[in-house]
Amino acid sequence: MNKIRYLTKSRFKLAVQCPTKLFYTSKKDIYRDTMQEDSFLAMLAEGGYQVGELAKLMYPQGVEVAHAEHTAALAQTAELLQQEEAVIFEAAVLWSQLFVRVDVLVKRGNTLELIEVKAKSYNSTKPEMVGLRGGITSEMRPYIEDVAFQAHVLKKAMPHMQVKCFLMMPDKSVVCDVDGVNQWFPIERAADRSKVQVAPAAKAASALPPLLAKVNVDDLVADVMRQGVKPPGGQQPLGTVAQTWAAAYAADQKITPVPGAHCGRCEFKTTPGDSLRSGFKECWSQVYGFTDEDFSQGTVLDLWSFRKKDQLIAQNCVRLKAAAPHLAPLSDGEELSTTDRQAMQASGIPADEDRGGFWMAEGVMRLAMAQWRYPLHFIDFETSAVALPFHRGMRPYEQVAFQFSHHVMQADGRVSHTTQFLNVRPGVFPNFEFIRELRQALSGDDGTVFMWSHHENTILNKICDQLQSRSDAPEDAQALRDFALSITKTGSRAMVDLCDLAKRAYFHKSTQGSSSIKKVLPAVLSASPRLWARYAQPIYGDPKVMPSLNYTNFAWCTSGADGQALDPYERLRDLGAQLLGEAVRPGEDPDDLAICEGGAAATAYARLQFESLTPESRRHLEQALLRYCELDTLAMAMVLEGWQEALQAA
Ligand code: SF4
Repeated sequence: MNKIRYLTKSRFKLAVQCPTKLFYTSKKDIYRDTMQEDSFLAMLAEGGYQVGELAKLMYPQGVEVAHAEHTAALAQTAELLQQEEAVIFEAAVLWSQLFVRVDVLVKRGNTLELIEVKAKSYNSTKPEMVGLRGGITSEMRPYIEDVAFQAHVLKKAMPHMQVKCFLMMPDKSVVCDVDGVNQWFPIERAADRSKVQVAPAAKAASALPPLLAKVNVDDLVADVMRQGVKPPGGQQPLGTVAQTWAAAYAADQKITPVPGAHCGRCEFKTTPGDSLRSGFKECWSQVYGFTDEDFSQGTVLDLWSFRKKDQLIAQNCVRLKAAAPHLAPLSDGEELSTTDRQAMQASGIPADEDRGGFWMAEGVMRLAMAQWRYPLHFIDFETSAVALPFHRGMRPYEQVAFQFSHHVMQADGRVSHTTQFLNVRPGVFPNFEFIRELRQALSGDDGTVFMWSHHENTILNKICDQLQSRSDAPEDAQALRDFALSITKTGSRAMVDLCDLAKRAYFHKSTQGSSSIKKVLPAVLSASPRLWARYAQPIYGDPKVMPSLNYTNFAWCTSGADGQALDPYERLRDLGAQLLGEAVRPGEDPDDLAICEGGAAATAYARLQFESLTPESRRHLEQALLRYCELDTLAMAMVLEGWQEALQAA
């Protein structure tokens, strides 16, 4: 095994985010790393494996350097580069202590094409790689810096060669004209390494319209080489700083932390009860002398949606309470603004308005509720957007709606889980069946329909577009479209966004300003002993009390072994682990593990599409999805019950 600690492209990317991270990385037995290199889940969820394999199919003459070990990989690459022309996958190149594996390296005479393959979505009709003021956009910068680092190593290692730089990315403007492209690359998951298979049908890839765009980024790379990279602490020349970082990493020396807003996204954080060490705590203890007590009181990083964290930290204002004088004062408006939420985070709820750990805009709540019609319908969608299309007529990253859950609350307070939909058959486009089933589920009355945040609205708009534009739209497309439009914004039965109401009218000190349902539900339960006691009874799934399609006599509110109350989402930790195929630690939100936008359900969907699973495993995963997603709509009903109770008590 090669023990030399080289600065690789992934470590370079990590160091650009924060050079101190180099000290904590690759020490999985010592430090918690929530974003471990080569995360199977991250790649799986966005379709990264498939994109990498499709890119190789664009070069049928390519030779893969399969050696994982550095010396053997370098030797094979050097041998292949002896040829006048060569296409090499995973080419290994070393200069000084800098080591890169290039996704695709094309040699033609004395010219090298460096092609970095990314699952990042790209639109060739609207590239948007450069911002309005002429610089590389912040979204593209990490990708360009990655290519620039590789180009730097190549030029140093082979100074006689001319290097041209490209990014290869899924092109959202291209319509796929065959079925099941994503099924060409099933994945075998093994204990230590995952293997991507390439199905014989994939030979058709070169005849397809180019789903992957090959974009020349020479000018942008030249910009980075001219201006340098931008790690915390200031801009630095790429070549110089790469050498500094490589030397520190090789010697296992910690680069002095420069804390800032970026620490909020640091992956070297632990959750309570973690057996591993927290790099975040070590940095903040080193720089600010923080104790466990200080951490428990909160930092400015906790301020919700606050853009000036860097400015506060630069002034040494790092404790949450110390931020109060720097924030806008509480307004006297009836609704909560973002700055009001921040002020309450730092200074607490004004004593005369504290309703037992929470604040409520009663007038706003009552006015909203007066406009609702019973029975109330709570819906939640699970969707996926992966790089390679599932179906003919789709574009890369087009939305697939594969599941919904639906709870109903009657005027007398009875709650039931009445309908659900799940279609995870590999390669099947479920959206039209999804919208038909949803229409059926909501057609029995004209009760108010609720969502939590605007995702459902966005998805229904996408399905409307698909119903209008796709050649395989069903015969009832117009009726389905009319229905979808009726419940989207401006429709006659437009969905009500409960998250928006929570933002405007409810603040609980435990939510850290957030209005995510996963924060609001535990907060509402903690503020309402009656609601907690109700759901602590094993009544959920009792057909006579609270019917459910997936549970029987289940108690959502329980206590852990330590006597601490477990919130309902914590109860689903094992289901979350099943969805992801990986363990979830206590206190960790399974959605946070998946890295991708859609969270655990979208990752499970990707597994059901791409991973080789036995029929039994598939059944288990489908059951886990149904049980897991049922809570999201029940949670909305529970939150509403809690709010109604608080209003009655006022
Ligand atoms: S806590 Fe901040 S300074 Fe320390 S490694 Fe993480 S991002 Fe870097």
